[in-house]
Amino acid sequence: MSNPLFNIQYGLFVITTCDGGRDNGCISNTIAQVAMNPDRISVALNKGNLTTELIQHSRRFTASIISETADFELFKHFGFQSGREVDKFADFKECRRVSNGTLAVTRGTNAFLSVDVEQIVDLGSHLLFIGPVTEMEVLADVPSTTYNYYQEHIKPKPQPVGQTADGKTVWRCVICGYEYVGEELPEDFICPICKHPASDFEKVIV
Ligand code: FE
Repeated sequence: MSNPLFNIQYGLFVITTCDGGRDNGCISNTIAQVAMNPDRISVALNKGNLTTELIQHSRRFTASIISETADFELFKHFGFQSGREVDKFADFKECRRVSNGTLAVTRGTNAFLSVDVEQIVDLGSHLLFIGPVTEMEVLADVPSTTYNYYQEHIKPKPQPVGQTADGKTVWRCVICGYEYVGEELPEDFICPICKHPASDFEKVIV
């Protein structure tokens, strides 16, 4: 039986911030409008992400809403590498600095929302950032992507490999596709890309 949590439908977003001149961004599926008059937005980000740390200090972020026109490169660029190792905006020019000082991503997106963080709730693995919208704009008249659309149409289908050339077993993260090689996957293993636990890995069988 599959996990009931996988039946929750989500959108996908690039969450960006700028803290002391340092820009960074990551991919999240957790943007929600949680109040109105004024419109308030929440986002839950993993504590291990650099973007999370930066928002704690800057207390502002922008969520660029990813559309069905986004390519896999956008997800790789913002989701499969860490700002601790690379400057994600060094060569990424399809963005625009908006009024709260952050960079809105303008490629593969259809709108952006900028938020001033009023409250930070510690949820254990994640911090929940909540605050009012300070600026928003529609960028393109195309549908927003859902997580399911991303899985079906944007993410390349992984090829089953089963074993490496030297006979080792491959385990694949069902969330992001990261592959771990070894006979047994350690119980406390955490996916280095998406931070999901060992229970979200499956043994790759050809
Ligand atoms: Fe993963």
